[in-house]
Amino acid sequence: MAEKLWEGIPRSEIPWYPTINLDLCNGCQSCIDTCPGDVYDWDEALGHPIVARPENCVVYCMGCAKGCPEEAITFPNKDEIVALVKQLRVKYAVS
Ligand code: SF4
Ligand code: SF4
Repeated sequence: MAEKLWEGIPRSEIPWYPTINLDLCNGCQSCIDTCPGDVYDWDEALGHPIVARPENCVVYCMGCAKGCPEEAITFPNKDEIVALVKQLRVKYAVS
């Protein structure tokens, strides 16, 4: 299967995707319902969502985190990812 690209950069090199703090998550499933990228699956055994398809996450989207009632979802530092993407644009010669 062809590598997934984001603006000409391999998506796998951009670590932008959510992390769920299971100690805080109440299992409301709001993140699953609102994600446009089908990033989450529901883990029946855990009783929590899991980040099943991290590369589907829309780079710089934080929609699920904003809608999470328990503030259980976090993302990497955006400024650091912006800086990384800048380097990757040079590496892959994309503007
Ligand atoms: S929205 Fe937050 S509290 Fe609700 S299932 Fe997702 S991570 Fe858990
Ligand atoms: S940030 Fe956006 S695309 Fe990524 S998992 Fe959350 S809602 Fe889905």
